[in-house]
Amino acid sequence: MRARALADARRLVRGARRIVGFTGAGISTESGIPDFRSPDGVWATNRTVTFQEFLASEAGRIEYWRQKVAAWPAMRKATPNAGHAAFVELHRQGRLGTLVTQNIDGLHQRAGLPADQVLELHGTTREAACLRCDDRISADEAARRVAAGELSPRCRDCGGFLKPATISFGQSLTPEVVTAAFEAARRCDLLLAVGSSLVVEPAASIPRAARLAGAGLVIVNREATPLDGMATVVVRGEIGEVLPDIVDSRSSDREVPEGGVEPERTA
Ligand code: NAD
Repeated sequence: MRARALADARRLVRGARRIVGFTGAGISTESGIPDFRSPDGVWATNRTVTFQEFLASEAGRIEYWRQKVAAWPAMRKATPNAGHAAFVELHRQGRLGTLVTQNIDGLHQRAGLPADQVLELHGTTREAACLRCDDRISADEAARRVAAGELSPRCRDCGGFLKPATISFGQSLTPEVVTAAFEAARRCDLLLAVGSSLVVEPAASIPRAARLAGAGLVIVNREATPLDGMATVVVRGEIGEVLPDIVDSRSSDREVPEGGVEPERTA
């Protein structure tokens, strides 16, 4: 039963021609970047500063920057893992169209996916942007300025608030990015959702839109998600172990690894 899910996922990937990848924080935990909801995740260690609080209060901006600067060295040092490499392999095979990610770590591009194929729904932590004029500086420069005493740095062009170029709670997503993601999902023949709890909206509606438009939906995650019931195949397991196997064009449907991997078929 479990081996069947893996074999079914492989078959679906091999038969697909226009795959949309959809990833969440789970694909980067094996690179040492904690996700939000796991016991050692971001929410267990930091209080959330909403976008409204960032705009309204200097104390909120200082706390936000403190958290981001504290997290930056680990984020900067992180390197792509086998899960990111698996999407590069799909690209190399000519099967991957767009990769939609909720992640802000830039690891898909660092793994080798062309930047114009990656839609970062929640922005990037590798830059800081002025909220007034959108002038951008690198995260390295922003971190240096905070460390040098600018606890809540301002844009040197216009004086607006600088903020890491990520989407905070309460902040609107970039409409063009969201539209492009939904369009890609509606045009694909298979959506491969990896390492997401699929509870954050509107992101979670993107795999749903692909399925409703007739595409196959493969979900790879360690734990259950609310979309498992509508998926074509659900593979339960550790991404770095399962995903390379699913996308490996050389593996046969009969070569299913034993032990460790715990895939589960729900449909
Ligand atoms: P999430 O934390 O809600 O869900 C991550 C899922 O991945 C969980 O279900 C978890 O069980 C699973 N998972 C974790 N490691 C795994 C592994 N090695 N193998 C298999 N499954 C694994 O994350 P989400 O769905 O992306 O949504 C929450 C928000 O988290 C997004 O808005 C995103 O911007 C933000 N975020 C991003 C990063 C990053 O850029 N790396 C890190 C933390 C949070």
